[in-house]
Amino acid sequence: MSILDSKSPSGPLAEKWTKHKANINVVSPANKRKLDIVVIGTGLAGASAAASLAELGYNVKVFCIQDSPRRAHSIAAQGGINASKNYQNDNDSIYRLFYDTVKGGDYRSREANVYRLAEVSGSIIDQCVAQGVPFAREYGGLLDNRSFGGVLVSRTFYARGQTGQQLLLGAYAALNKNIGVGKVQSFVRREMLDVIVIDGKARGVIVRNLVTGEIERYGAHAVVLATGGYGNVFFLSTNAMNSNGSAAWTAYRKGAFFSNPSFTQIHPTCIPVHGDQQSKLTLMSESLRNDGRIWVPKKMEDVMKLRKKQIKPIDIPEEDRDYYLERRYPAYGNLVPRDVASRAAKERCDAGFGVNETGLAVYLDFATAIKRLGKHVIEERYGNLFQMYEKITDENPYETPMMIYPAIHYTMGGLWVDYNLMTNIPGLYAIGECNFSDHGANRLGASALMQGLADGYFVLPYTIGDYLANEIMTPKISTAHPEFEKAEKAHKELINKIMSIKGKRTVDSFHKALGIIMWDNVGMARNAKGLQKAIEEIKALKAEFWKDVLVPGEANDLNQELEKALRLADYFELGDLLARDALNRNESCGGHFREESATEEGEAKRDDENYAYVAAWEYKGDAEPQLHKEDLKFEFIELKQRSYK
Ligand SMILES: Cc1cc2nc3c(=O)[nH]c(=O)nc-3n(C[C@H](O)[C@H](O)[C@H](O)COP(=O)(O)OP(=O)(O)OC[C@H]3O[C@@H](n4cnc5c(N)ncnc54)[C@H](O)[C@@H]3O)c2cc1C
Repeated sequence: MSILDSKSPSGPLAEKWTKHKANINVVSPANKRKLDIVVIGTGLAGASAAASLAELGYNVKVFCIQDSPRRAHSIAAQGGINASKNYQNDNDSIYRLFYDTVKGGDYRSREANVYRLAEVSGSIIDQCVAQGVPFAREYGGLLDNRSFGGVLVSRTFYARGQTGQQLLLGAYAALNKNIGVGKVQSFVRREMLDVIVIDGKARGVIVRNLVTGEIERYGAHAVVLATGGYGNVFFLSTNAMNSNGSAAWTAYRKGAFFSNPSFTQIHPTCIPVHGDQQSKLTLMSESLRNDGRIWVPKKMEDVMKLRKKQIKPIDIPEEDRDYYLERRYPAYGNLVPRDVASRAAKERCDAGFGVNETGLAVYLDFATAIKRLGKHVIEERYGNLFQMYEKITDENPYETPMMIYPAIHYTMGGLWVDYNLMTNIPGLYAIGECNFSDHGANRLGASALMQGLADGYFVLPYTIGDYLANEIMTPKISTAHPEFEKAEKAHKELINKIMSIKGKRTVDSFHKALGIIMWDNVGMARNAKGLQKAIEEIKALKAEFWKDVLVPGEANDLNQELEKALRLADYFELGDLLARDALNRNESCGGHFREESATEEGEAKRDDENYAYVAAWEYKGDAEPQLHKEDLKFEFIELKQRSYK
């Protein structure tokens, strides 16, 4: 019997959330005023949650690493946000969004959670429009939509290529209103180091003031982590440089289960790596696949000439181009899900048809769309993305195809949460990308923003009351409690330990080395031998780090090398768990591709009999982590081999 209770409500799919809301506890306005909530993170999930909780009357303290809440990583989101409004009259529905998401995630998510996500998706758009988010509109004034991968309808709402920024400005305005009236206290340039657990319940946090280096304590009746994903464990990713997994990791070390860490998403359309001094990769939004066609040459001689710059891509005639996604997946074409598109690009490049000097790139070509719609339409739709591409590569994508290659982008894994978004530590919640909840083994494009805002605006504000209703008699949490003392001491010691190594290697050089181990063995294709090798190599690198890392500067000061070193120390452990989880899951599903488990056509082959579960790992100190399984039950969707043909 699993120790994990998902608390998924029983009954008909479409009634679960309504029934659940009717049955959970509610806190009165007078009592909400007595309760303190700490929210860590001000991306779309954290900002929307903090604003909504304050609006309800709770006392909220919100923390972020950046110098302003509005500079959280969510600001980078480009392409759009899904909602099943059916504005295009193309037969979209809540059920279809639910179905696409479960299928897109390769049947490794909870039905009840995903249906709720689809159900509240429409309200997100209404809320954001009311805040003034400038979504793109059609000529007649209605909100416009475009398509994203893995679906046959157009349900993605967007604000040019800056959807995340505009949505975050909306959430930030809502947050600011509550800062203004004193219901939210905002703490910027603070990094949470530990969650404080007292008598089994989350009761606060300690944070490092990143400007002064001081450690500060904050008590609360509940703690909400909205700290984003851990893609930067791979060093090179599309994530912001200071995105990190440490808050979730520290919760894991305190007893919160970490789920499906190996479910990482590789995005097919990123600007290829161009040198070993690079520290970040740039995403070219999936929205571009609405109009861009992906191809490589059919003939090896053309590939060779391209590499030697003897010909240009536009010199290759139509009949000599292999539009491999359209060829392999006629129904979805260039809009297959990300895992499928990434693997198909890898397959062509592995076969030798990659088009840049390294052989690790394919074309994303807009010539057909420009001919059909005119340059001005393409400029209107994607202008800022084209400009960004040109700035980085010095090539004009209106005139020559973009070159793209898959890169690490998003993490579906994260802290285990139940239907209320609570971890297995009472009072500790995880929302947005930092939980594992809704996307299974592969997230569909434009669904992360939907999930973050669903969690923050429409789910947590209801479900947190169920727990807090039993806390109304709990007085303010005193930060003089020995658990705060203990955590502060332990982290001071850890910081001193890192500072005193004074070795020869930079933090980045270790992080790069970790990234190479991860990408080579735990990246787009995984096998048992490679995963075992990764575990050994990470162990050796970690030992080396603790002997030879150099962190200049002082601990009691602004010190970005120290910040990076502390995050990297966690990444070694997270990377190890990621590889272990990938090794344990001897099936392919979504972004997790085990070479041992492929169909004859090279597609991911699931093993539903043995692996239709959420893996939830429990920290066991120096011993091996313990695996718990939450069985996934599919009552409303038939499990099938995924097909996008
Ligand atoms: C380039 C790019 C484009 C994308 N485009 C899209 C898109 O078009 N549509 C879509 O749906 N998704 C998109 N995504 C994914 C999406 O942007 C993210 O999944 C989502 O924004 C995550 O939001 P979040 O609120 O969970 O976390 P984040 O936005 O990552 O915010 C994390 C917050 O936590 C804080 N934090 C982290 N650790 C700590 C700590 N220890 N202490 C204190 N604070 C901490 C940070 O300061 C930050 O405020 C894109 C991602 C990238 C990288």
